[in-house]
Amino acid sequence: MKIAVLVKQVPASDNVKMDEETGTMIRSATDAEMNPLDMYAVEEAIRLKEEFEDVHVAVVSMGPPQAVDAIKEAISMGCDEGYLVSDRKFAGADTLSTAYTLSATIRHLGDFDIIFSGERATDGETGQVGPSVATQLDIPIVTYVSKIEKVGNGIIRVRRAIEGGEETVEVELPILLSVVKEINEPRIPNLSGKIKAKNSQIPVLTSTDIDAPLDKIGLSGSPTRVVKVFYPKLSRTGTVIKAKNAELAADEIVKFMKSRGVL
Ligand SMILES: Cc1cc2nc3c(=O)[nH]c(=O)nc-3n(C[C@H](O)[C@H](O)[C@H](O)COP(=O)(O)OP(=O)(O)OC[C@H]3O[C@@H](n4cnc5c(N)ncnc54)[C@H](O)[C@@H]3O)c2cc1C
Repeated sequence: MKIAVLVKQVPASDNVKMDEETGTMIRSATDAEMNPLDMYAVEEAIRLKEEFEDVHVAVVSMGPPQAVDAIKEAISMGCDEGYLVSDRKFAGADTLSTAYTLSATIRHLGDFDIIFSGERATDGETGQVGPSVATQLDIPIVTYVSKIEKVGNGIIRVRRAIEGGEETVEVELPILLSVVKEINEPRIPNLSGKIKAKNSQIPVLTSTDIDAPLDKIGLSGSPTRVVKVFYPKLSRTGTVIKAKNAELAADEIVKFMKSRGVL
């Protein structure tokens, strides 16, 4: 069985800087990490590898050269290999062209039985990429997967989280599964995993390698335009009340509220 996991590198903090001129993210301004929700997808793929014979897990990420770190993190957890899809021509990609690029990469790498994605990325947060990749590959998708119950004979049975409960779905492979964090507890890489990741060579695929036409990738393949980016301006300033203990603080707060006519 061949499994691919889609992994995105995201800023490691909430302090995301945007270029107000171009409307794009300044990636170099912040530390990066594997999208935390993608770790559950990686873990689930590794669990299938441990449960069944002849399972091969490949990690695929589209991003700048430093996204190789997210791929290596997935390898250190137990994935077999990784591919970085990176090319200046991919810059400015919206979710449609990101999904086009990832689906063209999957096609280039061969037939996969299961493709995993996270529920959403913590920076863009659209949750569109998984479903869009499945659509572009013309395969079914099951979203919000909270448990894999059974795989065999070309069929997978999964449970998915829905409002107020869960439902069980049986689908033929190949399939794309986007998983929720209730599905498992991602492992911490061990030393041999870290050494394997450090020594792995990650092939970098360009738009030419995946045979992607220029009008489908990057800004020219993106029908969405960010027309304006701005930081919210704070119109009110706070008042800090300092006191030696909780009782005095309460007195000060009451005094302050009375002075404002609230009490
Ligand atoms: C007009 C426009 C211009 C943009 N320009 C830029 C830009 O210049 N630079 C920039 O960094 N961003 C840019 N973006 C944001 C970029 O489109 C999104 O970050 C990207 O498409 C992924 O969407 P998302 O973060 O909402 O992922 P989601 O759909 O929330 O992610 C769901 C899952 O899909 C998978 N996934 C998502 N992205 C990737 C990936 N790259 N590789 C592997 N797996 C992935 C992961 O498994 C993830 O958990 C732009 C967006 C728009 C609309």
